[in-house]
Amino acid sequence: MEQVDAVVIGAGVVGLAVGRALALAGREVMVLESENAIGTGTSSRNSEVIHAGIYYPAGSLKARLCVQGKEMLYAYCAERGVAHQRLGKLIVATSPEQVQDLDGIVAKAAANGVHDLQKLTKAQAQALEPALSCEAALLSPSTGVIDSHGLMLSLQGDMENAGGLLALVSPVERIGVALGTGTHPIRVTTQDGTELACRVLVNAAGLHAVDLARRTEGLDHTRLPKAWYAKGNYFTLAGKAPFSRLIYPVPEKAGLGVHLTLDLGGQAKFGPDVQWVDEPTDLQVDPRRGDAFYAEVRKYWPDLADGALQAGYAGMRPKISGPHEVSADFMIQGPADHGVPGLVNLLGIESPGLTSSLAIAEQVRTLL
Ligand SMILES: Cc1cc2nc3c(=O)[nH]c(=O)nc-3n(C[C@H](O)[C@H](O)[C@H](O)COP(=O)(O)OP(=O)(O)OC[C@H]3O[C@@H](n4cnc5c(N)ncnc54)[C@H](O)[C@@H]3O)c2cc1C
Repeated sequence: MEQVDAVVIGAGVVGLAVGRALALAGREVMVLESENAIGTGTSSRNSEVIHAGIYYPAGSLKARLCVQGKEMLYAYCAERGVAHQRLGKLIVATSPEQVQDLDGIVAKAAANGVHDLQKLTKAQAQALEPALSCEAALLSPSTGVIDSHGLMLSLQGDMENAGGLLALVSPVERIGVALGTGTHPIRVTTQDGTELACRVLVNAAGLHAVDLARRTEGLDHTRLPKAWYAKGNYFTLAGKAPFSRLIYPVPEKAGLGVHLTLDLGGQAKFGPDVQWVDEPTDLQVDPRRGDAFYAEVRKYWPDLADGALQAGYAGMRPKISGPHEVSADFMIQGPADHGVPGLVNLLGIESPGLTSSLAIAEQVRTLL
């Protein structure tokens, strides 16, 4: 049986960042990806926003890794020439009752170490974005957008330059842990029956990470969460948007609200909404969901014309909490949690996983 020091399952942005970090730390690394290209999962079906780290509960992994990951990502993009823009975002209060919510958001952000939010009056916000309708707003100058595929290519290049290998079309079927059986006690079996023995295994399989952890023999399954899936649908704007920053409503209980993001070419999209589904496979956007978008968007952009929204694409959130539960934190289960040396399961890596990817990789490297 072939032996490798470290195996990473999944070549999304997180798996590639982990593979890079382990290779740069001098480990022999192999990343196994089931598809025939990198980043075909959630990493290419998201908003491509570099989040500031404003809304997450203080002390959570999401808060800490987002704020740390944002700084690491901006530095990495500048050093490696990965396309990105620090566009900034406005969080807009569209009713007098929401104006007082802005103070709560400033306090929450400060607790997470985000101290750059600026309160704007209606006139100040409209001076920045004349098409905007609001009562007041917050400006987050450290929010940006990134070319996520360019980032993944760069991470892959770094990993390969450090000696790491990427194996495409290599779906992992099962994992076995046989402690006390030599230097490489973790066995990985791919669909075609190939077996690899490794010292270190990182499960970064995104939507399939919980399922794969359940298929790990020798792991205590009682500590694994249930996997849930929440689809996020986007609608794109026909024509050019009259905004140069990202526009987010004050968040409501169910999520961040229907917000406007821009890609690096200035194309605007609205969403993602939240649609709980049983299986993560259907990524078609039902055009009928667009009706609900018009009313939401017109709260901050009343001039949105009828018929201007087109069904775009959808992404799937790998959730580990259900629709009626408080949204769960990232779950990074290492040896101290499950007792298996060398094994790390990355579960529930939903937003802000792209922003946090380099910080997650650093956390995994130190865990191992
Ligand atoms: C709608 C939406 C919007 C988002 N917007 C943002 C945003 O703006 N900013 C932000 O920071 N984050 C955002 N996120 C979150 C971010 O996209 C994810 O956290 C991140 O992409 C997760 O990366 P990953 O590598 O863990 O997973 P994935 O990209 O899903 O990669 C997992 C990989 O594992 C492979 N795989 C699965 N099973 C196996 C197996 N058995 N064997 C081998 N390979 C396997 C898959 O093919 C896939 O390539 C968003 C998420 C969604 C759903």
